Amino acid sequence: MTIERTLSIIKPDGVQKNLIGEVYRRFEQAGLKVIAARMLHLSTAQAEAFYAVHRERPFYRDLVNYMTTGPVIAQVLEGENAIEAHRRIMGATDPKKADPGTIRRDFAASIEENVVHGSDAAETARQEISFFFAQADICPRTR
Ligand code: ATP
Ligand code: MG
Repeated sequence: MTIERTLSIIKPDGVQKNLIGEVYRRFEQAGLKVIAARMLHLSTAQAEAFYAVHRERPFYRDLVNYMTTGPVIAQVLEGENAIEAHRRIMGATDPKKADPGTIRRDFAASIEENVVHGSDAAETARQEISFFFAQADICPRTR
């Protein structure tokens, strides 16, 4: 077992639906620890940069627009196999394909408006954490 860190976002639809507490409850119940958190309203430039890996995809412009429609909450989660554990809690990208009991199956409206984001690998987690947080913003647990 490896202790990992991953970047998690409650997307604008998740914040709009008042799911902040529900999403955090699921993370905490699974043993993931929030070690940094912030709320912000992404600019178009920020959303473009965050999703630059998808810039050639047909849904890129819509994705950038959606991610700037309202505030988001970004957090760093820490725990055993946190990257995979977090993705399991979120469920598949398309809520219709997500397992029952996952965040996306329970709350997402569509493959685009799917409530949450999670890093998909160790290297992207590092990049995505540094996109939102300086080293000094991260608060490892001391008790
Ligand atoms: P995320 O990166 O947000 O955690 P993911 O890794 O499950 O989700 P990606 O393939 O990385 O999915 O896509 C990033 C985001 O782009 C998705 O979460 C969703 O909001 C949007 N998206 C993905 N595929 C589509 C699609 N076919 N049509 C519209 N939007 C999509
Ligand atoms: Mg992804």
